[in-house]
Amino acid sequence: MSKLIITPLGTISPYTKGNMNCPGFLVEYNNKKILLDCGNGITRLLNFPEDLKNLSVVITHYHKDHFGDLGALQYASYVYHNLGLLDKKIKIYLPRNDIAFNKAAITSNNESYSDYYDISDSYSLFIDDLNITFGDNNSHTIQSYMVKFQNKDFKMIYTSDIGTTNLSKLVDFCKDADLIICESSFLKKHNANSKAHMTAYDASILASKSNAQELLLTHFWPEEDKRLYLEEAKQNFQNVKIAEEGKKLVLRRIC
Ligand SMILES: [Zn+2]
Ligand SMILES: [Zn+2]
Repeated sequence: MSKLIITPLGTISPYTKGNMNCPGFLVEYNNKKILLDCGNGITRLLNFPEDLKNLSVVITHYHKDHFGDLGALQYASYVYHNLGLLDKKIKIYLPRNDIAFNKAAITSNNESYSDYYDISDSYSLFIDDLNITFGDNNSHTIQSYMVKFQNKDFKMIYTSDIGTTNLSKLVDFCKDADLIICESSFLKKHNANSKAHMTAYDASILASKSNAQELLLTHFWPEEDKRLYLEEAKQNFQNVKIAEEGKKLVLRRIC
């Protein structure tokens, strides 16, 4: 029976605080690893050099809080390769369209042991039988990609930064998911604009409309009590948790 192990490494934005980091989730499947975003501070929770082996890194969009530690990861890959402890390049997946020369800066880094791949809408790849598909969410301040993991046993979505602008497209992408890891930057009381970032309540709407089994909230404001996000989402969707650094989730289908 296949399983997906998900470790939150960073759950807040736009800055680190205490033991909390900017966005990052480590997904493990058959001893292969996929790092979803590489926000500031997340490298302190990685296990070096082990986590560099069979590693794919996905940067969902070019906001700095989502790739603040990528330079550190790249340099670590370079040093460990030179020490003879890393024999396979890390794979880094980046949105095809550059913004403010961020992509150019990442891919021109000579002190990195890595290969680069472009993400575009509907781009898809396989890790063993696990299909990973990307969807341009068309509802953030810059182009940002949702990521879907699917095999015969389960379906998991990482929304990254997302608003409610194209809710029906988001619902289609997330349909019948076993787990949605959804951003909830705001609470209703902030009176923020949901078009580019969701509230915890918006995330609960996405989960219920998608017929999802479980919702994991992330991307919190550093100064806010996380329990408030949980309470707000529970007004509409019961099976919800808040992401916490280092607290693993395991997804498996028990037939
Ligand atoms: Zn963000
Ligand atoms: Zn963003």
